Amino acid sequence: MTGAKILIVEDEAIEALDIQQRLVKLGYPHPDVVYSGEEAVKRAGEIHPDLVLMDIMLPGEIDGVTAAAQIRTRFDIPVVYLTAYADEDTVRRAKVTEPYGYMVKPFQERELHINIEIALYKHKMEGELRESREWFATTLRCIGDAVIATDKDGKITFMNQVAESLTGWRLAEASSKELAEVFRIMNRDTRQPVENPVTRVLREGTVVGLANHTMLIARDGAEIPIDDSGAPIKDARENIIGVVLVFRDVTEQERIGKLKDEFIGLVSHEIRTPLTTVIAGLDMAMTPGMTAEETQEVLSAAADGAESLAHIVNNLVELSRYQANRMQISRAPIDVGAVIKEIVGKEQVRSRAHPIAVDIPQTLPRVGVDQLRLEQILRNLLDNAAKYSPDGTEIRVCARQQADSLLISVSDQGIGIAADEQARLFQPFQRLEAGGRNAKGLGLGLLVCKRLVEAHDGRIWVESEPGRGSTFYFTLPLDRAG
Ligand code: ADP
Repeated sequence: MTGAKILIVEDEAIEALDIQQRLVKLGYPHPDVVYSGEEAVKRAGEIHPDLVLMDIMLPGEIDGVTAAAQIRTRFDIPVVYLTAYADEDTVRRAKVTEPYGYMVKPFQERELHINIEIALYKHKMEGELRESREWFATTLRCIGDAVIATDKDGKITFMNQVAESLTGWRLAEASSKELAEVFRIMNRDTRQPVENPVTRVLREGTVVGLANHTMLIARDGAEIPIDDSGAPIKDARENIIGVVLVFRDVTEQERIGKLKDEFIGLVSHEIRTPLTTVIAGLDMAMTPGMTAEETQEVLSAAADGAESLAHIVNNLVELSRYQANRMQISRAPIDVGAVIKEIVGKEQVRSRAHPIAVDIPQTLPRVGVDQLRLEQILRNLLDNAAKYSPDGTEIRVCARQQADSLLISVSDQGIGIAADEQARLFQPFQRLEAGGRNAKGLGLGLLVCKRLVEAHDGRIWVESEPGRGSTFYFTLPLDRAG
């Protein structure tokens, strides 16, 4: 590294000058000279040389070895000793300071040059190595997966924090222990121990994945489902020198998987009933010998079934659009009162078990609304009102103009909802025990209502008392006249 800045520490002025001249000749510009250990430490801190050439015997409080130790620890500058003394004691003391070279006077110019270049190179390499070690250590520490490394005998050499918290062992305690002691795994179904992945990696010499359904048994006995893989660590000659194991807690993934399965089951169940009506209706309509009236009746039942299917699918589509951030409503100014009456009319034809009363003033301001979505909201609320109230009781739909919005409500005289359960209703998959688990439903209707009302910048809420019926309210802001 020609051009390196060198600090000479030498109390003999003539010798210092000699070294200085030689260095210049070798291509190191302006080497600086100081004459004592104290000065050396001070100057090193000021000018941060690339290397210090240090005489050992120096006048003053601290000698060359002490000065070198300070320079090294405080400023991380490599030191090469130059000395006339090479007795064992001095060498031993000097060794402790991890010098990058040690030259006994008198020395040749060539020797000086080689020593300096080797020291500079070694220091640079050490810096790079330290940097890459830190880089790896930080990466391993920060990585979201748990990491455990072992030596070639399967003894633990490293664990990151995630591994510590999953296994319940700190690295300090686990270090040098057999992997199997800290990383205890079993098959979730058979509850039999699973072969230690490190043993497998050492035997097969390749990356291995764990079998599915592996359970980690933490130090406190907690069982955590994990998936993991192990890989050999090899040296430059392809010898296995250790194993690295990466694993993660899959509790959440399994929970989501289960929810998905349950949901698919629920959807299939929900769809099957109206689908059966449609198929049976069409089947019967094609049976020879049916009167026109009978045909009309079965076809209308089939049409109802088809409409229920469409409604379920619409709810699902709305939610998946919402999840994907793609729920877009297309508002147009409409006479909300007239639209509600029309929707109620259709609903009344569909379900005759409850009379539906409408309480809407003659004139209401027009509001910018997505008509199909309004229909979807009301359909969900009316369906619920019918589902959760005894046959024959009245359902009432009201609309009123307020200061800055329309207030629309759907009331029933049904089972009602306890106060502490009301907040839960508008969350996904929430179905209340009181509703009777056998009442049909996916537990998504009210969630869809909430999303759709909010997409219109409105609010939705419920007022209810168990046994005394429920009223669901929602608002549609007026200033959105479209
Ligand atoms: P679903 O009706 O498909 O179960 P919803 O999201 O529409 O799903 O409703 C969630 C839950 O809220 C229902 O399961 C029921 O327990 C309760 N609920 C909804 N509407 C009413 C109502 N009008 N009266 C009583 N309980 C209701």
